[in-house]
Amino acid sequence: MEKRLRLAPSPTGLFHIGTARTALFNWLYAKKTNGKFLIRIEDTDFLRSKSEYTKNILEGLKWLGLEWDEEPVQQSNRISIHKNYIKKLLESGVAYRCFTSEEEIIELREEQKEKGLPPKHDNRHRNLSKKEIEAFISQGRTSVIRFKIDEKIEIIWEDKIRGEMKWQGKDLGGDLVLSRRACGYEIGDPLYNLAVVVDDNFMNITHVVRGEDHISNTAKQILIYRALDFKLPIFSHTPLILNNEGKKLSKRDCVTSIDEFRDMGYLPDALANYMSFLGWSPKNPENEILSLIDISKIFDLSDINKSGAKFNWEKLNWINAQYIKKMESSKLCEIIKKYWDKMGWESPSSDWDLKLTTLLKDSMVLLKDAIDQSKPFFTLPQIQKEGQEFLKNQECKESLKYILEHLRQENIVKLDKDNGKAIINKISKEHSIKKGIVMKALRVAFFGCLSGPDLLQSWELFSENKSDLLRIERCFKLP
Ligand code: GLU
Repeated sequence: MEKRLRLAPSPTGLFHIGTARTALFNWLYAKKTNGKFLIRIEDTDFLRSKSEYTKNILEGLKWLGLEWDEEPVQQSNRISIHKNYIKKLLESGVAYRCFTSEEEIIELREEQKEKGLPPKHDNRHRNLSKKEIEAFISQGRTSVIRFKIDEKIEIIWEDKIRGEMKWQGKDLGGDLVLSRRACGYEIGDPLYNLAVVVDDNFMNITHVVRGEDHISNTAKQILIYRALDFKLPIFSHTPLILNNEGKKLSKRDCVTSIDEFRDMGYLPDALANYMSFLGWSPKNPENEILSLIDISKIFDLSDINKSGAKFNWEKLNWINAQYIKKMESSKLCEIIKKYWDKMGWESPSSDWDLKLTTLLKDSMVLLKDAIDQSKPFFTLPQIQKEGQEFLKNQECKESLKYILEHLRQENIVKLDKDNGKAIINKISKEHSIKKGIVMKALRVAFFGCLSGPDLLQSWELFSENKSDLLRIERCFKLP
C-alpha cells in the first residue's frame, strides 16, 4: 500500500526550524518508500492564523527542497465536514452537549488546585435528559460538544520511534471538547483533535510523524479514530530540538525561523542535510555530507532517537562550509556578486570575479562571509581589534618593518605569490622570526584581521590603486 505522510502546520507564525525538521522526516520517509508527502494547512484558529504565514511556510518548504505531491489541503474549507462527523458522534451517543459555563469551569479548576489535583473536567453533563438540555438552552446557555473518555480505558499503540506507548483514560483531563461554544442546538467550530482525525482519514494518511509534544493528543485521537471506525495510521513522535542548555529551542534562542537561517547565509541543501541528522542517525554512519535523496535511501523512522536533539551551531557551520566548498564557482559567484552589488562594490572584470570567488570558497562558512572576506579587495579595511592586538607583538611589527624596507629598496610596489613567498622566507630567515608570524603580520596588514582567504593567492587580486605598501605602512600609524 502506498505510504502517505503529511505536514500539518498551523499558520500562526513564521516557518519554524522544528516544523521544518518534522517536514523533513516526513518527506524523507515518503521518498524512501516511494510514497507521498502532503501538506495540510491547519488554519482554523481564525484569530492567530494568517495567510502570510501560510505563504512563508510553503516558500520555506520549497526553498529547502521539500516539494509536496498533491495540492495542499486547507483545513478551514472542511469545517462543515468536521461538524457532520461531530453530529455523527452525538447521534451515536459517544459525544454529548456540555453546558458548563466558563465561570463554572474556573470554579472547578480552583477547587482542584486547592486539593492539589490536576485540571480535569468532571463530566457533569454526560447524562443530561432531553428535558434538562431544553432547559439549559431556554436559559440561553451555550454548549460545547464533549467526547466521552472512559476513565478505565488503557490506550496502547506501537510508536515507530518509541516502541509501545501506554496512556490511561483517567489521565486525559476528562471528556474531550470537540467543538467551540455555540448557541441552541448549533455545533460550534470544530477543534484540533477532531479535525485532525477527520482530515488525516480523508487524506488517507498512513503515517503520522510529529513532535513528541503531541503524544497525549495521539491517545485522545486514537479514541476518536475508533469511535468513527477509521483505520489507524502508524504514529511516530519525534524528539524535541534543544538549545545549549538542554531546553526546547524557542524564539528566545535568537534564530528559529527558516527565513533567518537563509538570511544568515546558510545554503538550503546544507541546512536540510544538517537537520536530517538532528535527532536521526543512520545505522552505519559513514559520510554526513549527503543529498536529501541519498539520505532518504538510508533513512528510517525507527532510527530516530527518543531523546531530545541538541542544536549544534558548529556542526551546522561546518556542513555549510562543506557545501560552499563543493559549489560550482560560477554559481557561487552569482550569489556573491549580489552581496557586492548591495555594498556598491564594482569589480574589474568577470575573470577577476571568478578568481576571487574560487579563492573565497575555501574560507567561507556562511554566504554572508563574502562581504567581510571580499571587503579588503575593494577597500582598505580597518585594522580590527584582534589585528591591533596582534601587531602589539614586537616580532610582528618588526617583521612588517623589514618587509617594508625590503620593498622600498627593491622598488617593489605589488606583491604576488612568488615575490611574496620569497620575501616571507627571507625575513623569517634573516631575522629568525617564525614564518607563521610574518604571514600573520602581513595578513593583518592586508585583511585587517587574522582570518580570511589564502594570503599568497590573494595578492594578485588586490586592486592596483590601493598600493600594497600603503597597507603595510598604515600598521605603523596605529595608536
Ligand atoms: N497543527 C498542528 C501543529 O502545528 C499539527 C499537529 C499534527 O501534526 O497533528 O502542531
